[in-house]
Amino acid sequence: MAKGDDKKWNSEWDSGDGSVFWQKEWRLYLTKLQPCISHPLAWKPRKILRPPKKFEDLFSRYFHRDCLSCSKSPSMPIICLFCGELLCLDECCNTTRYRDSERTMKYTVSEIEAHSEACSSSAGLFISITSSMIIVSRANKAAIWGTVYLDSHKEEDRNLKRGKPLYMCETRLKWLEYDWAEQEWQRVYAWFNMQHQTSFINTIRECHLHHHH
Ligand SMILES: [Zn+2]
Ligand SMILES: [Zn+2]
Repeated sequence: MAKGDDKKWNSEWDSGDGSVFWQKEWRLYLTKLQPCISHPLAWKPRKILRPPKKFEDLFSRYFHRDCLSCSKSPSMPIICLFCGELLCLDECCNTTRYRDSERTMKYTVSEIEAHSEACSSSAGLFISITSSMIIVSRANKAAIWGTVYLDSHKEEDRNLKRGKPLYMCETRLKWLEYDWAEQEWQRVYAWFNMQHQTSFINTIRECHLHHHH
């Protein structure tokens, strides 16, 4: 693990709303994208931001911060793992779209779907800071991946029920990076259509009760 990475997270990410950090990441992304432009069909996945070593650092930095879309403190806050923006998983930030030009057939788009479209080619990765779980999204579907944070005994603390200090596990992060690069989500056991957002949110709220290995 490169020491510089942690420093980057701690200093730049720490120093405000994360926009400086985001701009740097974005420029880096564009630079990396250049070789792909001659092969427009080659999809180059965005690089996952390195999560802080201590979960507590992530939690304290974001908890009670307002969502940029609804200006409220989210009850189910999630952070984009590519740009670091805080989003709501709740219905408050859903948007309405229309399938037809007469605007008769409307449908709802969740904030994670809209954000992923703009940020990461409709395939999103988020961390839920009230549960410590990673959320994967693909267009209008979302799923729980698992967690990259474990306690000192290498055990998960889903929904932070035991309140033990959690540390980022390098092995789990490598699994996540691999799954993301390959877009292979074999560790995921159920995909939810975000039209049924409430059942997905309830599944996260209860994920400490159902442990899948
Ligand atoms: Zn993002
Ligand atoms: Zn919101």
